[in-house]
Amino acid sequence: MFRRRGRAQVPVVARAEGGALALDGVGRTYRGGDVVALHPTDLVVGRGRFVAVMGPSGSGKSTLLQCAAGLDRPTCGTVRVEGVEIGALSEAALTRLRRERIGFVFQAHNLVPSLSVAENVALPLMLGGAAAADEATAARAAVALAAVGLGDRTTDIPAELSGGQQQRVAIARALVTDPAVVFADEPTGALDPSTAHDVLALLRQAVDHDGHTVVMVTHDPTAAAWCDEAVFLTQGRLVAAMDRPDAGRVHAVMRRLGRRGVAA
Ligand code: ADP
Repeated sequence: MFRRRGRAQVPVVARAEGGALALDGVGRTYRGGDVVALHPTDLVVGRGRFVAVMGPSGSGKSTLLQCAAGLDRPTCGTVRVEGVEIGALSEAALTRLRRERIGFVFQAHNLVPSLSVAENVALPLMLGGAAAADEATAARAAVALAAVGLGDRTTDIPAELSGGQQQRVAIARALVTDPAVVFADEPTGALDPSTAHDVLALLRQAVDHDGHTVVMVTHDPTAAAWCDEAVFLTQGRLVAAMDRPDAGRVHAVMRRLGRRGVAA
């Protein structure tokens, strides 16, 4: 399952043709190297894959996601999004890449309360220079909202929606630019199981129907079971990968990681 490289192992099952995302020796330390949040790690996520990043609390999941998404600069290694090395970009170019080629879905959906649902979804396009009143912008937002089943709520403000509906708006906003990779950080962490199911089904649909690539941090084996692959971190190291995960097997690995700090 792994190719050993004398550092963090490479989950070869993730090597589908043409990586949407490639991490090569990506590591992150704090306090001058005293705290190692992420040891040098390799990971390739193929286009059109849905990958879960799992591990106990403090294992480095958020650090990996932040580095991969260009929200944090790794201490070592390179991150490529569709072949573009993001560490080599200027701040302005990185901001643009994050806006146009990367989508984000967080546990707290971060919608702007004073903007309508449609304006929230159009926001990444508007930040890219599109006019709010632009017909094409409105049309793209409407298509993205229809895809998440909220085509009839465009003029509502976020407070008029349920938590699950707000998360669906956040997914529409993440997809509206047709990004190379969508990063989701515990997107169902604040939702009840039935609403979580709907949100995960939408992410799955984005992958299956529209060819999107999704990397999702989760601690929930049920959520991981929606993915094509799960990779497991512990103590800042990527230690295991599972193709076509199911909740039972994921739960067993998580239990082992929690108990011993390493995969059996
Ligand atoms: P996870 O997302 O799996 O809970 P994190 O990536 O947040 O883990 O953290 C991994 C490790 O790095 C933890 O031990 C955490 O305490 C440490 N860490 C994260 N951010 C910082 C920081 N800004 N300063 C010092 N240590 C940090």
